[in-house]
Amino acid sequence: MSKGAVKTANNNKMDWIAVHPGLFDYPVKKKNKVALKASRCSRCGETFFPERSYCRYCLDESQITNITLASRGLIHASTIVYVDAPSGIKAPYAIGYVDIPENGVRIFALFDSCDRELLAPGREVELLIGPISMDTDGKKIIGYKFVPAQRKGFCI
Ligand SMILES: [Zn+2]
Repeated sequence: MSKGAVKTANNNKMDWIAVHPGLFDYPVKKKNKVALKASRCSRCGETFFPERSYCRYCLDESQITNITLASRGLIHASTIVYVDAPSGIKAPYAIGYVDIPENGVRIFALFDSCDRELLAPGREVELLIGPISMDTDGKKIIGYKFVPAQRKGFCI
């Protein structure tokens, strides 16, 4: 390793990285609520997560506006995974789809629980943005996940 590389590593104060750029703002400012960034087409009314530069139905970019999604949703489907994820998430963990009724969109997500009863379709969940795993350099990987409104059975 060159001296330049060592200096860069020592000067890098961030101990976290986002799981994917552009999904949310982090760290969350005290006055703001956690939120996922999305896009809405004002022509057809479709909402997209993550953000898009054009509507995939209208094929038009002039009607797209960036929005933030409501933080509460309802579970559409979920499953518990018993194998570690290549991204470093340790098993068991739960994934699935969450409907955000206020925005009319369904998104893929991690859940911060492995309780089958709390992850049943129709159960209410709330958005949380925080560490989901660690990278090979020991940095926290910050992602989004949903917490059951009636919380128990943590697994991440
Ligand atoms: Zn459209």
